[in-house]
Amino acid sequence: MKILVAAFSHETNSFSPVPTTIDRFGIGTGPYYGEAARAAYEKTGMPMAAFIRLAEAAGATVVTPVAARCSPSAPVDAHAYDTICEAILEAVREGCDAAMLDLHGAMIAEQADDGEGALLRRIRAVAPDLPIALALDFHTNLTADMVGNATVAVGYRTYPHLDMYETGERAGRLLLDALAGRIRPVMAWGNAPMLPHTLKQDTNDEPMRSLMALAAAAEQEPGILAVTMFAGFPLADTREAGLSVLVVADGDAARARAVRDRLLAAAWAAREGLVHHPRPLAEQVAEARRLAEGPGAPGPVLLIDHADNCNSGGTLDAMSVVAEAICQGLTDLAVAPVCDPEAVAELMAAGVGARATVAIGGKMASPTLTEQSQPLTLTGRVGAVSDGMLTVTGPVFTGTAVNMGPSVRFDADDGVQVIVTSRRIEPYDLGVFRSLGIEPAEKRYLVLKSRIQYKPTFVPIARAVVECDGVGVASSDYSLFRFQRLRRPIYPLDADAGLAPA
Ligand SMILES: [Zn+2]
Repeated sequence: MKILVAAFSHETNSFSPVPTTIDRFGIGTGPYYGEAARAAYEKTGMPMAAFIRLAEAAGATVVTPVAARCSPSAPVDAHAYDTICEAILEAVREGCDAAMLDLHGAMIAEQADDGEGALLRRIRAVAPDLPIALALDFHTNLTADMVGNATVAVGYRTYPHLDMYETGERAGRLLLDALAGRIRPVMAWGNAPMLPHTLKQDTNDEPMRSLMALAAAAEQEPGILAVTMFAGFPLADTREAGLSVLVVADGDAARARAVRDRLLAAAWAAREGLVHHPRPLAEQVAEARRLAEGPGAPGPVLLIDHADNCNSGGTLDAMSVVAEAICQGLTDLAVAPVCDPEAVAELMAAGVGARATVAIGGKMASPTLTEQSQPLTLTGRVGAVSDGMLTVTGPVFTGTAVNMGPSVRFDADDGVQVIVTSRRIEPYDLGVFRSLGIEPAEKRYLVLKSRIQYKPTFVPIARAVVECDGVGVASSDYSLFRFQRLRRPIYPLDADAGLAPA
């Protein structure tokens, strides 16, 4: 038996100005192909690693034509999309008995609004009966093409994503069971007319926690094989963006549909709890200061610059939160990271120890936004430099390689240290600070360009967390965006949105 295992993952932010070219996949060196794909992922906590292990344990020959992951940004360019799809299709043409695919579920390509669905259609055009398992991200915007062209599909049930490997195991096992004739999977899916804010999707918090518990309980019912509730990725402006449910049952489609309808109704009933209400930034920074100066546990106060989270398509160079923090006199503060290759080059040329005045960030225009971020001019000293290479030791994306590109720690005179990188990386690992000589637990304030994924790593060392509504293309303020393809009406954008009767 020959099993094809591949990864193609991109979460597309339709409003992001960051281009998605083929070189941005991998660690900035393009996708991994063949044996290199396997070597890059087989020891990680990603679904692809689980697929490889399961297929091998089943005695299969494993082929890994490609592994392509890229952090969120604008729609995947046509060349990158075709090249990566073609690598998978070529392996399908060469012949295989099954495929296990580690996909995202919210990918838009220049030539395909539903990147995953279009890929799966192309695979099935070559091999109409090929058994296919999908491991999907919690932020999947599920479509009929994804479900209709797969045998089984399972999504992460945690955000922060801590069950990526387990998701691969769940999907891979179901496919192996189907191949062996032990089960006969049928799937039912549907979506509710709601667009939950990413900031409110933490599965440790209500209402997501209870909704995930309902899904997990439904999975224990007789005849039900897997139940996933996807919160969706709201900034991928496609028809199907938003919350959805996917149920895999053993032979009984009516049972799958009943579970789906029950879960969609529960999500709809909880819709108000999934809306983020922005507050003025000045108020939030003042709150951070009160928390740092008041009584409490040791450790920094985290200022979460979630509107500039590069893992939602942010440019990682929006400076509004840092500027407000400096304006309010916050000191002993470290920021990570700001992506500004120009500033890095300038500071590296000056050398470690040199004094400099430099304009940091605010250089990438975001034409879809009504408000633009400005560069922030700081004076200080070049504190440290690095090549920006890390291996993640934290619980999110464990074991994966990270390439921040040439990076600098800039120690500004006003008690502010900025990690300036040449590539975009969300700070979900302490290495982002430590690799440039900052012990994050010892700072009074940390500004993190992240939304949720920082939590498993940074909350344990923090005194308090303040979510800051800065400016950026990953904002949780829907009024900043002009949605064009999204189905309407949809909650909370439209007052007349309602769940269709089951
Ligand atoms: Zn996700």
